[in-house]
Amino acid sequence: MNFALNRISRKFSGIFSMFFNISAKQADDNNKRLVKYIVELNQKNKSDEIINEASLCLKDIVNYRLFAVVIKNEKEIDVWLDPRMYKSSLETIIMGDFSIKDKKNINYINHSFDKDEQEKKFSMKNLVSYDLMEEDCMVKVYMVPGRNMLNYHDDIVNVILKSTGVALARQMKIAKLDDAARLDPLTRCYNRREFETQINRNIARAVRHRTQLSVFMFDIDHFKKVNDTYGHQAGDEVLKAVSALARDNMRTDDVLARYGGEEFFAILPGTGKREAMELSDRIRRMIAKKTIATSQGNIRVTASFGVASLSGHADVATLIEDADAMMYKAKLNGRNTVMPGLIKICSEENRSCKNVPMRSVIH
Ligand code: GH3
Ligand code: MG
Ligand code: MG
Repeated sequence: MNFALNRISRKFSGIFSMFFNISAKQADDNNKRLVKYIVELNQKNKSDEIINEASLCLKDIVNYRLFAVVIKNEKEIDVWLDPRMYKSSLETIIMGDFSIKDKKNINYINHSFDKDEQEKKFSMKNLVSYDLMEEDCMVKVYMVPGRNMLNYHDDIVNVILKSTGVALARQMKIAKLDDAARLDPLTRCYNRREFETQINRNIARAVRHRTQLSVFMFDIDHFKKVNDTYGHQAGDEVLKAVSALARDNMRTDDVLARYGGEEFFAILPGTGKREAMELSDRIRRMIAKKTIATSQGNIRVTASFGVASLSGHADVATLIEDADAMMYKAKLNGRNTVMPGLIKICSEENRSCKNVPMRSVIH
């Protein structure tokens, strides 16, 4: 690394003074800034931070404006977009370049878009793109050069982009290893080990901040029959679909883990029991309604849920035991249900509280 930077440093000291028509001191200063940016790039651990740094560097050193960076790996397409930029301006170009059919497959890593966000058109006349290939990923960079560009800029831009590509590839390798350690390979939910870490962390946080915490556990009903009827492969497809459905209906701070074969555990920070039961029941109904298209045909399943909440003295083991006991009760109560099945509600007209079966409250 040091050797490479020394080489860059020597090379660009020459280029800066030769072409920028600036004093040796200014050239040295530019050169030092470039090297500093490249060192910074290599110290960042997140792709958006690496690209932010590259964007600053391109602007500062060669006056290029970075519009977008697209990272394509085996699984998905991540897009970094200049935060002042609006997505439609570039989205069509990116979709064409990467043959993307559905916009849903694009994951914006540094920018979320409101539905009512105003579209501001940018002139794409001078847009240039560079391709960078790094081991497992392909990176495409879209930029607009500043005015008065000269040929030598290419050399400097190449060094900045190559360093960005190397830093991104390194970060992706780390992220992949991290994923492999924390995620269940089939469902991409957290694995059991990560669940233990997360539940301990969330309980400690809830106790420290005196906030609510609920969990729910669910188990697919008669799943053995699914495997026996349609085969293990179709069973796997069902597990994937059911877990994705649950995850898509949870908040970003919530945690969903695969606890066992066809058992899942959700941690809901800042959530009281009633809310957790409502969420569980919503997911239960969605699972029951969904027709899952698998390679062996359409399959429908149901699931049984157990909900538990942190009480003053509860610890990790008690919370898990409570949820497990409730789920067992849901199985005994005919499956496709949420337990505890009785919650107290007080209506405006009827001031006295009464116990109402869960399903009739929610439906
Ligand atoms: P219940 O309603 O009581 O939960 O019945 P069940 O059939 O779902 O429960 P049981 O524990 O008898 O069977 C669970 C089945 O889940 C058996 C096992 O082969 C299957 N299973 C566990 N892990 C996987 C997996 O990763 N893929 C597939 N396809 N099946 C799995
Ligand atoms: Mg089961
Ligand atoms: Mg089970």
